Amino acid sequence: MRFRVTLLILIFSLLPGKAQKYLHYLQAPGFENRIVHYIDTIRIIDTHEHLISPEMLKDSYFLDFSLLFMQNGYDDLVSAGMPDTLFNTIFNRQLDPVSKWNIIEPYWNNSFNTSFNRLILQSTARLYGINELNESTVGPLSEKIRKAYGTDWFDRIIRDSCRIHYFIKDGNNMPGKDGFARYEKRFDDWLTIRSKYRIDSLAVSQLDPIYSLDDFVKSLETAFEKELKNGMIAVKIFSSYYRTLLFEKTSADAAKKVFKTLVNGEEDFKISMKEAKPLQDYMLFKLLDLVRKYDKPVAIHTGIQAGKGKILGDSDPELLTGLFIDYPDVKFVLYHGSYPYGGEVSALAKNYRNVYIDMNWVYMVSPTYSERFFNEWLEMVPVTRITAFGGDCMVVENVYSELISAKRIISKVLINKVREGYITEHEAMVIAKMIFHDNAAKLYKLN
Ligand SMILES: [Zn+2]
Repeated sequence: MRFRVTLLILIFSLLPGKAQKYLHYLQAPGFENRIVHYIDTIRIIDTHEHLISPEMLKDSYFLDFSLLFMQNGYDDLVSAGMPDTLFNTIFNRQLDPVSKWNIIEPYWNNSFNTSFNRLILQSTARLYGINELNESTVGPLSEKIRKAYGTDWFDRIIRDSCRIHYFIKDGNNMPGKDGFARYEKRFDDWLTIRSKYRIDSLAVSQLDPIYSLDDFVKSLETAFEKELKNGMIAVKIFSSYYRTLLFEKTSADAAKKVFKTLVNGEEDFKISMKEAKPLQDYMLFKLLDLVRKYDKPVAIHTGIQAGKGKILGDSDPELLTGLFIDYPDVKFVLYHGSYPYGGEVSALAKNYRNVYIDMNWVYMVSPTYSERFFNEWLEMVPVTRITAFGGDCMVVENVYSELISAKRIISKVLINKVREGYITEHEAMVIAKMIFHDNAAKLYKLN
């Protein structure tokens, strides 16, 4: 026995050292540039956006430099101490660019370092030729923005500059953009239900009374089928902004009890999210039954929530494990690389064939995290279950800027993997095409 062990040690010690790590492929010189250039030729399926239509922007008070702060940049100004009561002053009132800048500047000076804000600077530099935000640049920048929106700027950025084949909008269809816009729908009216008012409003909008739990389930089915007719391609679950992602199987009796408490209340009667949980959980399972019946993917907000004051633990993707088991035929798409739960999502996607990792927004949240975990996911997860791009933005300038970062990070990781001999140059290109286009095309049935 001892002899056999010694022999094995001897055999392994004679093998070439490098073979212990990976298969080592010979790389043809110049593979770095070829990978970068190839990625630039890929048409992109952008899996998640909140884009405001250019027509709406033209009628707004933020068709100036503040446009670029919509959502993410604004959140970091607030995180840097700006009172969020200033939202209306910046976005909903007539105010000249310099006066707006005077409000923003102290908080910009505290937060110019964040990746949200670096991406804004990348937008202004690449698209408008302005490298700095200050009192003397915000006026000319605003002028350039207004001029751009007098043209077909929105379409040109999406189609020509970003080469986006389709983008999936959170919410509803975008009139006039049928050539490249699709949409996913939230069913929050049912999943975050906790007031009598909401039930009554649903009944009024659907012209169908809701007296019982069965009526309430029926109203969900009606809404779902209406969205299918309108072209909904996926369902979006946004619950972790309001409550835990732990949805537990609940009996009809427990759900009925909560429902009765609500409908028997006064007009403005409300209960807490915790008290409403049995009813909300019950409705989530009803929604998943519909999703399974009509074979639509379910996109779920996991990880860090936008804005302030949310409970991070509510968004932990591990809380969804029971659903992955109960609905093996439903495709669950975990958004935002589940920041900061990158390791957890890796293990979940490896263990459950119906779990997909979607990297939308994550380059904006943290480029370093994106790079670190894309590396790990490539080692852990079948590549067919990774989708690499979605901006999660309200304006095209920020989509453009985030796509530049996404391509830079994905290229860097793939090039390193080729350099290490983990994959070949050809495989790097195959992976890039899958994660930027083909996987999403298949998942969302987009041709
Ligand atoms: Zn979003």
